Amino acid sequence: MAITAIRGFNDILPGDSDVWRRIEKEAVEVFVGFGFSEIKIPVVERTELFLRSIGQGTDIVEKEMYTFCDRRGESLSLRPEGTASVVRAYIEHRLYERTPVCRLFYSGPMFRYERPQKGRYRQFYQIGAEVLGEKSPKLDAEILQMVLMVLERLGLKDTTLYINSLGCTLCRPPFRNRLIAFLEKKREGLCEDCNRRMGVNPLRVLDCKNSACIEAITDAPSILDSLCDTCREHFSEVRRRLELTGIDYTVNPRMVRGLDYYTRTAFEITSEGLGAQNAIVAGGRYDNLVKELGGPDTPCFGFAMGVERIALVVKDRYRGSVPLTVFIPMGDDAEREGIQIVGILRDRGIRVVVDYRDGSLKGRMRRADRLGARFVIILGEDELRSGVVTLRDMESGLQERVSLDLAVDRIQLELKER
Ligand code: ATP
Ligand code: MG
Repeated sequence: MAITAIRGFNDILPGDSDVWRRIEKEAVEVFVGFGFSEIKIPVVERTELFLRSIGQGTDIVEKEMYTFCDRRGESLSLRPEGTASVVRAYIEHRLYERTPVCRLFYSGPMFRYERPQKGRYRQFYQIGAEVLGEKSPKLDAEILQMVLMVLERLGLKDTTLYINSLGCTLCRPPFRNRLIAFLEKKREGLCEDCNRRMGVNPLRVLDCKNSACIEAITDAPSILDSLCDTCREHFSEVRRRLELTGIDYTVNPRMVRGLDYYTRTAFEITSEGLGAQNAIVAGGRYDNLVKELGGPDTPCFGFAMGVERIALVVKDRYRGSVPLTVFIPMGDDAEREGIQIVGILRDRGIRVVVDYRDGSLKGRMRRADRLGARFVIILGEDELRSGVVTLRDMESGLQERVSLDLAVDRIQLELKER
């Protein structure tokens, strides 16, 4: 029996990987333009980091982490998300001493033991960014603008931005109590999960997807009615800034995030055409996490985009990589001379593979076609003698003898027009 990959762990094959690279490239270009630098964080951390940051009563920590003991018996976990590691690194390397505001982005695989389905996997990729050290609501709006800019560059339309405020340590506990009091009365109508959540993480009941639960909590108190003055003013300013920037949004007081560290602004962006797993970006403010993990008091804002889900939406647009040129040398002399020619083509940014097999030109042309050639350059004895190459455009079928320079120009022109 051949060995296969583990359920929920995917290979990203050629074609798709081009789409992925494109997503990453656009995101990184935009992030860099907003002053961000990359941080590379480990895939494995001490389990305790996630327990203390994401929170004990969350789905991620309770049932989704890949946790194991290493050979010395220490409990380690594959990272289920990136923020905890970024914050750990920020504290560990005292990045706050280097700059008053730290703008970091990361990308890579995350691991959660979830039920695999379309848009939900056990290893999935996120591109995320965090701003550490800025409390202004203007920043929240700026980062939302940045995220939308990435999506726009990728040609993603039909997206919706949902925002909410989750309050702070002052106003959330009283709301939590009001909510628990309300939920106690609805206990019967709530699903098993929500009955359990009520004790540990009652806010999570608000965004349960179960239709019975949705029905039971239609009259639930809204967190937005419980915000303290500072949180209310913060949220209003975020909204004002979004409006100033011309960004459409929907306030969703039921949207709470699955991680405990969020405070104040939380957001989610969904995209059409993905079915139930329609959130492509999510994030928000987490003003207490750095301090809770032993660092200085540092207000933060961050988010993560789900690469698989974005790829599902944009892949038809971006399938196909840089057009390929296949180089066919006919005979030993051409083979030798070809080394230099291919070098020149590659130096000039042309994507070339050399066909090494002997055989008739017809057979080799067929193979070039199967390799996906957009252009073929043939170098035979005739061409060698006359100092030219034969350039064939595989799309139009036109073929002509031209100087190497001219061939390069033609191919480059075609690449530019794409
Ligand atoms: P969801 O509500 O879809 O489970 P989440 O709230 O767990 O998402 P976050 O932890 O905030 O998501 O992660 C941010 C983004 O990462 C999500 O919006 C989604 O695009 C992506 N993501 C999260 N979990 C998965 C997964 N198991 N497989 C693929 N992508 C995922
Ligand atoms: Mg989830």
